[in-house]
Amino acid sequence: MSTIDNLKDRKTPVFSPEDVTVVFVLGGPGAGKGTQCERLVARHGFAHLSAGDLLRAEQSRPNSQFGDLIRDHIRNGLIVPMEVTIALLEASMRQILDEPTAVTSTSTSTQTGDKKKKGKFLIDGFPRKLDQAIKFEEAVVPAQFVLFYDCPEAEMERRLLERGKTSGREDDNAESIRKRFRTFIETSMPVVDYFEKQDRVVKIDATPAPDQVFEATEKELEKRLGGGKLA
Ligand code: AMP
Repeated sequence: MSTIDNLKDRKTPVFSPEDVTVVFVLGGPGAGKGTQCERLVARHGFAHLSAGDLLRAEQSRPNSQFGDLIRDHIRNGLIVPMEVTIALLEASMRQILDEPTAVTSTSTSTQTGDKKKKGKFLIDGFPRKLDQAIKFEEAVVPAQFVLFYDCPEAEMERRLLERGKTSGREDDNAESIRKRFRTFIETSMPVVDYFEKQDRVVKIDATPAPDQVFEATEKELEKRLGGGKLA
């Protein structure tokens, strides 16, 4: 991934927030981020990028130089180094923005007459560590806000163990789940606190059933995005 070298020194975002709307989606493992994102994609035309899914795909890609490193981190519930994750996200965003049938609309810049694409992205399971948050906003694009799904650990554990019966995921077992919870509390909650201090967190109670959580999500997004962006 050539973007990795290029990322290290980049100090200005490659996308403009006027063209690209990014909402970070956070919550503990099993909080239901993926379920809610699927619904938002179906109803509101977001593109959904899951950091975990992108990492798993890269791990399975033949000849990936990062396969072993990613596998090791995922199994231990650890945060994969940020350059890898951000490069994968940026490459996916670019690919989606370049697709002719992408979930995007086009606008014409009055000054240049250039066609510019607009995209709406839910970035799920990211940023999970403060350095990722800072680097992504500095080098890729500033996000609108964080959608934070708040759920008690006992309920998340119940959901993950249930999912583990059929998911085939190497980290949906009791030991990995415990490590993932620890990582979430120690490393990812400081990210939520960081955005909270900037009044950029939309907190949703993720304990109820998915329909109810979705209703609350739509209501909050409408308030925050409004202006046709939720469409
Ligand atoms: P998830 O699919 O969101 O439950 O993520 C599964 C695993 O992928 C995590 O436990 C981490 O090991 C890794 N991972 C997911 N998102 C990130 C991220 N933003 N940064 C680094 N590692 C991640």
